[in-house]
Amino acid sequence: MKSIFRIMRATHTLWPYYTGIIVCSILMSVTSLASPFIIKGATDAVVNSVNGTEQTPMSVIVWFAVAYFAAQLFNTVITNVGGFLGDVMSQKMRTILSTRYFEKLLVLPQSYFDSELTGTIISRLNRSITEVTNFVKMFSNTFFTMIITTIAVIGISGWYYWPLALLLVIIFPTYLWLTSKTSEKWQVWEAEKNKNIDIASGRFNEVIGQVRVVKSFGQERRELGLFKKHFNKTIGLTQAQSSFWHRMDVARRGFLDLVFFGLYLMIFLRTLAGDFTIGDMVLLIQLMGMAVQPISSLSWVVDTAQRAIAGSKDYFEVMELAPDQRALALVASTSGSQKSQPLKTLAGDDLIRFENVAFGYEGEANVLNDINLSVKRGEKIAFVGESGGGKSTLMALLEGLYDPRDGKVVVDGDVIESADLEKLRSRIGMVFQDASLFSGTIAENIAYSRPEATREEIIRAAEKANAHAFIEKFADGYDSLIGERGLKLSGGQKQRIAVARAILKDAPILILDEATSALDTKAERAVQAGLDKLMVGRTSLIIAHRLSTISAVDRIVTLKDGNIDEVGTPDELARSGGIYAELLSLQDSGKKADKKRL
Ligand code: ADP
Repeated sequence: MKSIFRIMRATHTLWPYYTGIIVCSILMSVTSLASPFIIKGATDAVVNSVNGTEQTPMSVIVWFAVAYFAAQLFNTVITNVGGFLGDVMSQKMRTILSTRYFEKLLVLPQSYFDSELTGTIISRLNRSITEVTNFVKMFSNTFFTMIITTIAVIGISGWYYWPLALLLVIIFPTYLWLTSKTSEKWQVWEAEKNKNIDIASGRFNEVIGQVRVVKSFGQERRELGLFKKHFNKTIGLTQAQSSFWHRMDVARRGFLDLVFFGLYLMIFLRTLAGDFTIGDMVLLIQLMGMAVQPISSLSWVVDTAQRAIAGSKDYFEVMELAPDQRALALVASTSGSQKSQPLKTLAGDDLIRFENVAFGYEGEANVLNDINLSVKRGEKIAFVGESGGGKSTLMALLEGLYDPRDGKVVVDGDVIESADLEKLRSRIGMVFQDASLFSGTIAENIAYSRPEATREEIIRAAEKANAHAFIEKFADGYDSLIGERGLKLSGGQKQRIAVARAILKDAPILILDEATSALDTKAERAVQAGLDKLMVGRTSLIIAHRLSTISAVDRIVTLKDGNIDEVGTPDELARSGGIYAELLSLQDSGKKADKKRL
């Protein structure tokens, strides 16, 4: 229950709604209690008339009718006002909780996303927020009124005949105890169900995101099977959970029926004994009816509360994760512009330094050891070496996505670990192997690096990136929609948009991580022409698979098993007989073989 209160505290700005709903609940209870009294008055008047003891004047009948309709109408209006406030409040609550969750995810360290599937994150978010808001909505719209009504019913029955009130007071905790007895077991099943749903959702998201791979390997049936397997498990779990719950419910309701039979019997006996008028009897029977409703709803309330408790636990589990403090500062920053400030480092001086850097991913052995490297401002430096050697990891450290285990990375005189991330990121432009575009228009994608860019600036960047001509050929030009992750574009086109995006960013440091590796020779040439223009005047770090793309660099660094193996100019390394020379000869022999085949 603590976590539910935490949710209420986290959404304390909604207090006007909470207050409005409480006021409506009190008014609803009062008006719903008015009807039994009006009916009691009417019954007594009718009984007296029938018995001939007292003649009921017409005005009294009119009064009953007016009072009854007025109470009903007021109750209906208040119920709907309360319902409206509840609807708006729960949506506002959903908005607040979802936004905070998203904000939290955005400031979590990269390592969190290394180990969680996107679909799982989304599934967990949706479930936890839906269940919490459902509970709060139900609590405010129904349960709160029920509590007030029940207290009033107990008070009124006690005033008429105290044993009635005593019995009612005893039933509530007993029934609640019986219900909560089932809750522990229920929670275990629920957690297991959610685990399966999260796994299936995680996979679902991956499959839909890479549906082409699934299709081309003909794995539709297998994926469907895996999905069904997890969802089928939830059926079995629900059967066990629900059958247990409903069996317990039979026992609970049996207990309730017995107690209420006793209560009604007491009322009839007291009426027969002449202690109650027929009107009193009618009133008390109605009040008992009003008490049965909240008691029998208790199991439903407990059920919703349990889900909400589980949901809020999931919610706070993520909310309590330690954020990356620098990312937090970045999100909180109000500067709003990504525009790069001038570098302190002068041309020819060290702009980037890796000093004794060691790094390993969470819970794993080091993938980089004792890296020492200085990159001068304006220098173009290539990283070469076998796959898995640590090249991309080195770039991730430079971006400040991870902190080194040992040593430090210095950019423009600032140690990254304590640097202002906004400043750092504004200084680094990137082009990856996968262009990583978003759905939306081409113009929006190019301007992702600088949303305030004008159309002219976007076009100029596209021209430099060799992209303008093909963009113009689309019917809607720069306003063409490119589909999810740019699915409607070819690899080379996507990559040229990514290059235009980096050109528009105009950052002094550039990271090219296998930017042309996935392209055919023709597309590679088109992209490379754009990259060449992009690199002019920028300190560039290039990871390249194809050595042809790095012949014009100033220096080459070869990495092997997380260590720097060699550093030198392309000529020096070609002569040294190391990894680079070996890769060169491999590529040469590959080319010769290709020529022979042609
Ligand atoms: P390269 O770019 O040279 O191919 P990487 O930097 O991508 O090499 O990878 C270096 C090592 O780190 C590899 O052994 C790889 O399996 C591991 N690695 C890369 N990314 C992650 C990650 N997010 N979590 C755990 N290990 C990773």
